[in-house]
Amino acid sequence: PTRRIQTPRRQSTDTPASQTPGEDYLEWPEYFMAVAFLSAQRSKDPNSQVGACIVNQENKIVGIGYNGMPNGCDDDLLPWSRSADDRLDTKYPYVCHAELNAIMNKNSADVKGCSMYVALFPCNECAKLIIQAGLKEVIYLSDKYHDTPEMTASRRLLNMAGIQYRQFEPKRTQVVIDFNSINQAGMLNGATN
Ligand SMILES: [Zn+2]
Repeated sequence: PTRRIQTPRRQSTDTPASQTPGEDYLEWPEYFMAVAFLSAQRSKDPNSQVGACIVNQENKIVGIGYNGMPNGCDDDLLPWSRSADDRLDTKYPYVCHAELNAIMNKNSADVKGCSMYVALFPCNECAKLIIQAGLKEVIYLSDKYHDTPEMTASRRLLNMAGIQYRQFEPKRTQVVIDFNSINQAGMLNGATN
């Protein structure tokens, strides 16, 4: 079923007593995962758009990132290929993963004790960053590279460091952002629904 983001009715302070809170709102985990997925859409990687969202213990977002080339390094000059005769002609030596960017983009002093929502289970390089940054848990959606050495090493590191990780089980397969929804009827207090 399709999910629409509509009025944040829950935040209204002057809802008539007779009206119950809406059912059609995002719960925190799906909201944070949706933010990660929205951020992913910024990625220029033609094969893999990945986003990450870091959340503190007060449910405040403190960092967002997506996979991309380092700052100042022209995306149009560096390769996006997944395979080539020369590894230097693939994206791998150059690209920054979403997790790295989310941590580096943090708008708080640090991300100790925070949770990371990320589309893909983190690779071993990102696991190192997650551990050193002091994150406490990782919530991922897909584990499609589970059997690769990178993911095996990642699990080994996360396990040793005592960092929790769990797969996100979405209640819905889609969150639709409809810019036109704000123009639908029933938005103003007191307006007819
Ligand atoms: Zn990674």
